[in-house]
Amino acid sequence: MTQEERSAAYYTANRERIKARSAAWRIANPDRVRATSLRYRTAHDAEIKARKSKHCVINIEKIRTRAAAYYKANKKKILATNRIWRDKNLERMRVQQATYRANNRDKVREYKIKHRERLAAQRRARRKEINVWQRAYRAENRERLLAQRAVNRAAHVERERKRLRKYRAAHPEIFREHEQRRRARKRNAIIGDTKAITKWIKELRSNPAVPCFYCGAVVDGRNGRECHIEHYVALSRGGPHSVENLRPSCAQCNLKKLAKHPDEFLRSRKAATA
Ligand SMILES: [Zn+2]
Repeated sequence: MTQEERSAAYYTANRERIKARSAAWRIANPDRVRATSLRYRTAHDAEIKARKSKHCVINIEKIRTRAAAYYKANKKKILATNRIWRDKNLERMRVQQATYRANNRDKVREYKIKHRERLAAQRRARRKEINVWQRAYRAENRERLLAQRAVNRAAHVERERKRLRKYRAAHPEIFREHEQRRRARKRNAIIGDTKAITKWIKELRSNPAVPCFYCGAVVDGRNGRECHIEHYVALSRGGPHSVENLRPSCAQCNLKKLAKHPDEFLRSRKAATA
């Protein structure tokens, strides 16, 4: 009997006792067990990884099923843990996400298209919260964002022009209002509550039958050529750009009135019709 055979025979004969002894030793010496295992893992890192990934490939279905079952059974707990982790690692998450997005632009785009409706619903549900973030972000990064926008617009002049044209066609009332406000600002006019002005114009622009303030002729408010929006006291005479000073006017009256004082204009109209 060789030495090897002898020790194999001894092990077979005393298997249970040997196992119990080494288990007891392991329990008594957890630090040494940990150190040994760490040493082993460090020394055989590549080998262990290869073994694990081979195992994963072979058992992928089993692993997936198990993971899905575990997730389903512990969903609340997992989500809560994730939330805690995210709250603790906000900065790390941001960096991670930004890196992922930068490296996977196509995937991100595909995902956004595929889940467009769900994402939009999510945004709608958190609109207020998102607005607060965005406002804070814009305020904090104002200079940088303005510079970035200027650079982008300069780099895409043609695209920008097209965008404006499209926007203008889709929202003529907003555009007209901007234009009016710009003119009012240029004349140093007092500018009233812009939200109220928007609302007033929107209502006017959806009304198919608007009487001209000056002659009473009914015009289509939806048609900007027929129905003008007029400053009762002209901006050039110090009239404010505000709801109180806006009047719907037919094109003829508006063009005849120009910057005349309203009383003067009404008098001249009466004189003309008399
Ligand atoms: Zn008129």
